[in-house]
Amino acid sequence: MVGAGVVGLSAAVRLAEAGHRVDVLARDLPRETTSAVAAAIWYPYLALPRDRVTTWSARSFEVFADLATKAGTGVEMRTGTEVFRERTERPWWGSAVPGLDRETALPPGYADGWTLTVPVIEMPVYLDWLAARLDSLGGTITRHTLSALPETGAGRADVVVNCTGLAARHFAGDLTVEPVRGQVLRVAQFGLDRWWLDDSTDEPTYIVPRSRDIVVGGTEQRGEWSRTPDPATADAILARATALVPELAGAKVLQHRVGLRPARPAVRVEREGDVVHCYGQGGAGVTLSWGCAEDVVALVG
Ligand SMILES: Cc1cc2nc3c(=O)[nH]c(=O)nc-3n(C[C@H](O)[C@H](O)[C@H](O)COP(=O)(O)OP(=O)(O)OC[C@H]3O[C@@H](n4cnc5c(N)ncnc54)[C@H](O)[C@@H]3O)c2cc1C
Repeated sequence: MVGAGVVGLSAAVRLAEAGHRVDVLARDLPRETTSAVAAAIWYPYLALPRDRVTTWSARSFEVFADLATKAGTGVEMRTGTEVFRERTERPWWGSAVPGLDRETALPPGYADGWTLTVPVIEMPVYLDWLAARLDSLGGTITRHTLSALPETGAGRADVVVNCTGLAARHFAGDLTVEPVRGQVLRVAQFGLDRWWLDDSTDEPTYIVPRSRDIVVGGTEQRGEWSRTPDPATADAILARATALVPELAGAKVLQHRVGLRPARPAVRVEREGDVVHCYGQGGAGVTLSWGCAEDVVALVG
């Protein structure tokens, strides 16, 4: 297995549960990955095709809903609202969630909204939980920077699973994978329990409460590679978010972060000889993680 983000670790856990020996190699350990920057709310965002994404999202929803009942996973079910400036159709992924209600109590300036209860995944806690789960199943995670996927065959792994996210540009020679830059702020929690999302403008605005902090985003900058937070962008994010949740005006900013989402015209979960590719989950790597992981197990065989 190459890659220790949420996609690689989830697949590693499912493979180990299925009885495979799993050794994960990764340049960045779980808390250093793009996955650690994610907000992370269950929401099918910047990932296609719609039919597979809906199936994977629905499966992950079930698994996360179960994890939310267990202590120490970092997963909680939270209610929130996606708001729109105009009347909208029911979301295309609506069948993946058990409940979706048209909202009538809307913030000023909005014409429509959908309220739903979804898993919110506190990534640093959750990635640690995934790594510990893999360890308990006998799997390993080793920091190792590779220049190519490991070879298979006698004395080596039977199958290599490629979960390298954006680096699949290199590892699979796949230039259809491109970064979609996401900048966020972490602010101190002040008692907010609902999430909010507004994707009706050029840049998405979201406010995702977690146990001790709130993730406030964001940006959707396609083809942009800089991992350095931009102060003017942070100001603009906070202004948009404060218009939605006025209490953010006095919130203490704890940190600025940037992650590069691995976007692809279609998520790739596919076997090619002794390699199983699983990458290109875009803005929904967490949302798709368990569904994709179970497909990886089927492809490894
Ligand atoms: C700001 C932001 C907010 C987001 N919010 C959400 C959300 O709310 N919900 C959601 O579902 N998703 C969200 N996402 C998307 C999500 O973070 C990604 O889809 C997900 O992290 C992709 O996971 P991954 O495991 O494929 O990649 P990564 O987490 O990037 O992991 C890739 C792994 O490959 C390894 N690798 C790369 N190169 C090498 C090499 N040369 N040698 C060895 N190993 C290598 C890396 O070290 C790493 O371990 C968000 C993303 C951002 C940036």
